[in-house]
Amino acid sequence: MPTRDQIARQIIDTCLAMNASGLNQGTSGNISYRFDGGMLVTPSGIPYHKLSENHIVYVDQNGESETGKVPSTEWRFHLDALKTRPELNAVIHTHSLNSTAVSILNHPIPPVHYMISATGNTQIPCVPYATFGTTELSQNVSAGLAKCKATLIQHHGLIVMEANLEKALWLAEEVEVLAKLYLKLLPLGEVPVLSEKEILVVIEKFKDYGLRKT
Ligand code: 13P
Ligand code: ZN
Repeated sequence: MPTRDQIARQIIDTCLAMNASGLNQGTSGNISYRFDGGMLVTPSGIPYHKLSENHIVYVDQNGESETGKVPSTEWRFHLDALKTRPELNAVIHTHSLNSTAVSILNHPIPPVHYMISATGNTQIPCVPYATFGTTELSQNVSAGLAKCKATLIQHHGLIVMEANLEKALWLAEEVEVLAKLYLKLLPLGEVPVLSEKEILVVIEKFKDYGLRKT
């Protein structure tokens, strides 16, 4: 079991990696990890390069955060996501450009490439817009994550879940590439897609494929 400080460090490193790779920008986006019945989550509005372990906030299962710290405004959808998928521990939310662009079109990402199978679903849903930080948004997001490890949020961005932070970052990057591919194809006419049958075959293969420990 990693300690609180170790998880806090991993959360910060993942934030920094997201901004360095261009997956996220500014103070957008937030990250959480399951801890002690609740979660550890990034604070609200602090630029990632200014984060230290002390800034990371513990929020318990009832949504109570530790005193003196302000958790991400999106703590509700992080906590509800972790309750919705008890087998997954890490949540990443980002306003990555390509995923956000598809969310504005309010399209699910169809199976344009077999890597969609990494999400555990045959397409990446886009859930309806609601004001950031609200219970309504959290309910919409949980409905998407219940069927797919990646979900677009209309006019907002992307949320992904995985077993750990390393895998969650990997999945967010893969989804961003799928969104980019989809946007390239859209202006060219009807977009060819893989059959649901083939995606289900690949989902099966992905049960023992993906990012491996080095
Ligand atoms: P926070 O800085 O409060 O985490 O908000 C960023 C964000 O992406 C809101 O949706
Ligand atoms: Zn956001």
